[in-house]
Formats: sequence, structure tokens, C-alpha cells
Amino acid sequence: MGPIETRCSQDTAPLAADPLSLGEIVENGLCIGCGLCRSTAGRDVEMVMTPEGRERPVARKALDKPTLAKINAVCPGTRIAGPPPAQISEAALAETVWGPVERLVLGRAADPMVRFVGSGGGTLTALGQFLVNSGRVKFVLHVAASRSMPMRTERRLSFDAASVVEGAGSRYGPAATLVDFNDVLDRGEPFALIAKPCDITAVRNLAPLDPRVDEHMRYALAFVCGGASDLTKSEQVLQRFGLSEDELALFRYRGHGNPGLNRIETKDGHAFEISYRQLWEDEDKWMIQPRCKICPDAIGQVADIAVSDAWLNGGPAVEDEPLNAIIVRTERGRALFDATVEAGVLEIKRESGIAEISELQSHQVRKRRAVWARLKGMEIAGKPVPFVTDLALRDCAAENSPAANLAEGRGARDRAHRGRLGESPAVPRGSVLGDP
Ligand SMILES: Cc1cc2nc3c(=O)[nH]c(=O)nc-3n(C[C@H](O)[C@H](O)[C@H](O)COP(=O)(O)OP(=O)(O)OC[C@H]3O[C@@H](n4cnc5c(N)ncnc54)[C@H](O)[C@@H]3O)c2cc1C
Ligand code: SF4
Ligand code: SF4
Repeated sequence: MGPIETRCSQDTAPLAADPLSLGEIVENGLCIGCGLCRSTAGRDVEMVMTPEGRERPVARKALDKPTLAKINAVCPGTRIAGPPPAQISEAALAETVWGPVERLVLGRAADPMVRFVGSGGGTLTALGQFLVNSGRVKFVLHVAASRSMPMRTERRLSFDAASVVEGAGSRYGPAATLVDFNDVLDRGEPFALIAKPCDITAVRNLAPLDPRVDEHMRYALAFVCGGASDLTKSEQVLQRFGLSEDELALFRYRGHGNPGLNRIETKDGHAFEISYRQLWEDEDKWMIQPRCKICPDAIGQVADIAVSDAWLNGGPAVEDEPLNAIIVRTERGRALFDATVEAGVLEIKRESGIAEISELQSHQVRKRRAVWARLKGMEIAGKPVPFVTDLALRDCAAENSPAANLAEGRGARDRAHRGRLGESPAVPRGSVLGDP
């Protein structure tokens, strides 16, 4: 892997001469399970659910070097670029931690139903609905609960507002949004992507290699992301109630309020609920995937608009009013935001700013400042790290004291030496190797 760069605009993704294999990407803790390698390599790669509860790619046969080079160029575990410069206006504020900001407001969906079912204030759902209703796009690519296994998450193509709303709410477990992205591009229709920042990174990586991305993907909208948990985290909730996955009719992580309850319904008509605080009360049991701990862009600098919760210090009081912080990042995002407000689909509560978002998302500020040292620590331990460009990681780290950076780097180096930042080889659940 290449060195970590902090400011280096590149229009094309370099094809590595010595690419990592899929196994190396996974076992070094770089994979987040987006599915783009599956889409890139076709039938030679399949996504499996591992015993840890992660969606991971497995090569059915040895992949040739050109295929691996392409995967390394697009994978958000090996290459993480910053915001697309051509889409950032000169007027945009470029803040070290928060990146490009055209406008920053607190707001929500105007439709009371949408803001109720939405994760926070339903902003992303409202934007998605506006895009399909106004004909700006033909469909929205996002995710929704699986209809047959509602604790699992599947990619969804929504062609109308009703379908967009079915995908409302945060899905904390694994979600391979891009598993058939090539087929999505093959449709040759304008679309919007609503997804995690790393999903958008993957698609932006693909853009220089596949002109269909810029031709058809009209908008990329992200949520600010604290990390994707393992499915095992969700399975622990089931164990609490003595339930098995095949009994489920509904598994909602949040939404129906801000944040709303984690609600489970069974096929035989029983319902179980725990609060957001109960779900996340013990940080040792968050089961956040390794890639998230070194995520240089969990705040969605690569998106046209990034949407977050608006809770002080990252946690809800109990039930809060429906509300999001909305970071408009690109000119395209600004035109969309203005049109959505003008159409009465989004409502603005008030303007916000860097000082406020830094308080609301203090965990994201800490992470932005920590990632450079974490990656250095991994490099020193001899582990491959992603090739990071244009994300000001070094500048963010400079906001820490040298002692804090040293401690962060040493901690990562030691954890990497002990194998704590890596993962087991990917095997499907139920296979001989996969069964504990
Ligand atoms: C794993 C995860 C971690 C998060 N961490 C933070 C955080 O640290 N700070 C913060 O402020 N907010 C975080 N959020 C985002 C927050 O929960 C809200 O989703 C966000 O504020 C947008 O709210 P909304 O009401 O506009 O969303 P909605 O209107 O409910 O729309 C959410 C959209 O996101 C899509 N989506 C949901 N889950 C996934 C997924 N796993 N992968 C891809 N797409 C998905 C849905 O399909 C839907 O289109 C996280 C969300 C997730 C899923
Ligand atoms: S992050 Fe995505 S592209 Fe990279 S190895 Fe994992 S599934 Fe494949
Ligand atoms: S923290 Fe980063 S890598 Fe993890 S799911 Fe969120 S955007 Fe992806």
C-alpha cells in the first residue's frame, strides 16, 4: 500500500503494482463489506456472512492481478480520497476537521409522517422522496430491512416516495449497499445514492475507471457515521428476549421518534422494545467493525449533503424533537437543498455552524484528530493501511498535542502487533471452518 498523503489531488485512481488480495484486505481489518468488489469481479467473488456477523467478500477462485488491481483502486478499505474538488465552490468554507461546508443548518422533513419514521428528522428520506417526485432522478439506491429476514439489511432501489420511506431509519448492522452496483449502472438511468460515507468513497473511487458513475449518479447523500456494528450485536438483542431470527416479522433499530425504540415484532404477534440508550449503553459491546476505527471520513466529506443527529455530545436525552444537522457540501448539494426547502419538503429550524456541530458530534472531532496517528501506528507495525488523499488528516492531528498523537500511534501499533485491528479469514457461517 502507498503512504498516507494528506493533500494530494488525483483525478484517477492509481492501479497498484502489487495489489492486496481480498483475504489481505479483510484480515488486515480494512474491509467494511460494501460489496463493490463483488460487483467488480462478478461471480468470482461472493459476499458471505461470517461467524462474527460481518458481510465479507470471498474469492471463489484466485483472482488475476488486473482484477485485484481494480478492486484495490475502488475498495474503500484500500483507497480513501477526499471531496471531489470540481464540485466544491470557492465560497465553501474549508474547515480542517469538517471539510467543505457550503451551508450548515438544523432542519428536518416537513412531512410529519416522514420525520416521525425517519432516523432523526427524516431529512435523507425527504431528500430522496423529493428527488424521485421531481423527476431529478429515476430511483434512489439505498438500503432497507430485508423482507424475509428483517434483522438483515439489503440494498434497495426505490422508484417512488413510498419505497424511499420504507428504507427510513438507521440500520446499524452490516449493509452491502454496492453488491450489484454494476447492474445499477447498467440500467443507464439517473439515480441518487443515499448511504454511508465509505459507500460513497467506493463509488467516487470507481468514477475515474467507469464513466457511467458520473453520467448517471446525480447526487450522493450520506449520514454522518459512528460505525457499523456486527450482526452479532443485533443477535444479542434477540438473546435478551429468548428469540431466534426466524421468528421475526420486524427488527427496527430506531426511527418512529428521535431516536425511537429498537422494536422487534414476531410472526406470532408479540412485540419487544428496548431504548436507544439500552442498545448502546455498554461501549465494550458496541461491536463496531475494525475499518470504522480508522475511518478518515465518517463525516461524509465525499457527499453532496451529509446529515447527522443533532444531539448534544452524540447522545439523545430521552426522546428528542425530530431534528438533523444538515451539512451542505457541494454546489450540487446546495442547489438540491435550496430546491427542497423551496418546495416545502424540508424545513429549516435555524442556521448552525462549526462550533455547534463540533459540540453535537464531539466523538467525530476526536476521531478526525486521531486517525492520522492510528494509521501511522499500523504502518509502523508493518500492516497495510489505506491510501488516503485530500482529507487533511495530518492537519487534524496537529490539533492534538504531540503527546496525544504519540499515545494514539503507540496504542494502534501495539493493537496491530497483537492482531486486535485485524479480522479472522472470511468464511461463511455454517461452513466447517466457520462453525465455532
Ligand atoms: C451505522 C450507523 C452509524 C451512525 N452513526 C452516527 C453518528 O455517529 N452520528 C450521527 O449524527 N449520526 C449517525 N448515524 C446517522 C443517524 O442515525 C441518521 O441516520 C442520520 O442523522 C440521518 O437521519 P435521517 O432522519 O435524515 O435519516 P432517514 O430519513 O431515516 O434516512 C436514513 C437513510 O440512510 C440509509 N441507511 C440506513 N442505514 C444504512 C446503512 N447501514 N448503510 C447504508 N445506508 C443506510 C437508509 O436507507 C435511509 O435512506 C448513524 C447511522 C448508521 C446507520
Ligand atoms: S470494503 Fe468493499 S470493496 Fe473493499 S474488500 Fe470489502 S466489500 Fe470489497
Ligand atoms: S465509520 Fe466509516 S467505515 Fe465505518 S461504516 Fe461508517 S463510514 Fe463506513
